[in-house]
Amino acid sequence: MRCENEQQRAPGTLYVVATPIGNLEDITLRALRILKEVALIAAEDTRHTRKLLTHYNIHTQLVSYFKGQEARKAEGILDALRAGQDVALVSDAGTPAIADPGTILVQKAREGGIAVVPVPGPSALAAGLSIAGFEGPVLFVGFLPAKSGQRRTLLQILANQGHHLLFYEAPHRIIDSLADCLAVLGERRVFLGRELTKLHEESLVGGLRETLALLSGRPAVKGEFVVLIEGVGEPSAPAEETVETRLRWHHAQGSSLKSAVQAVMAELGLPRSAVYKQALALWGSGTPAS
Ligand code: SAM
Repeated sequence: MRCENEQQRAPGTLYVVATPIGNLEDITLRALRILKEVALIAAEDTRHTRKLLTHYNIHTQLVSYFKGQEARKAEGILDALRAGQDVALVSDAGTPAIADPGTILVQKAREGGIAVVPVPGPSALAAGLSIAGFEGPVLFVGFLPAKSGQRRTLLQILANQGHHLLFYEAPHRIIDSLADCLAVLGERRVFLGRELTKLHEESLVGGLRETLALLSGRPAVKGEFVVLIEGVGEPSAPAEETVETRLRWHHAQGSSLKSAVQAVMAELGLPRSAVYKQALALWGSGTPAS
């Protein structure tokens, strides 16, 4: 049996609470109860979360917890948890710690023996996937790198994936990202979920080329995007792939010698020396090496 003082010192629970990705009705009854009952809500942006709380007449104290300051901010929140207070962690939209702040606090809470409990609900990832109509396993990439060079390198590594690729993208980068996908992955089926659950919700399914042309033809591209790109089907075992077949494939996609060599090195795990000579023969000796 524990005495009163010991019970007071037992740590609180960290609840990781999913909130709407647009439509305010997309919040679970449990999430609302937890947000009401906890002593503290750690929010990515307190002003943003305040609007949600006001909508549901919840007056729980808010404290900010945002990317870049995660480690520092986590300490204060952990103090509250150690003192026995229950805390809810929320992000601006969807599920915390999925391409959002949260991981550091969750890790530190676990290390400190504090219970971490999910309160599941909306996520753009699940919302997009649920309406894309793509069968089979999916690889969640988060955000692609902002810089084109880094983005292409990552896409080259993923190019031979059997899994569909799911990623988040911001409106100001969607066209460049899709263009890089087309250049590196070649023509594939793509699903775009834009502004899901919001007033201007839109779903597009088609080839990468036509989808890119459609978006490029718009005067402005607005809204949040979740993107799903079809995988190449059953991933072929690298042993069955020859350098030549992979190079021929990249050649047919219109890749440059340099990017084809990099892609095949990554795909087959080979050094440059094992790929470059054959590439030269295929692209023609007049093609610049870099
Ligand atoms: N943790 C969130 C979740 O669980 O969905 C994701 C946070 S991440 C910082 C934000 C990105 O999620 C946006 O840039 C966009 O790619 C995607 N996203 C968020 N809300 C969306 C919506 N309503 N429709 C489509 N994509 C959305």
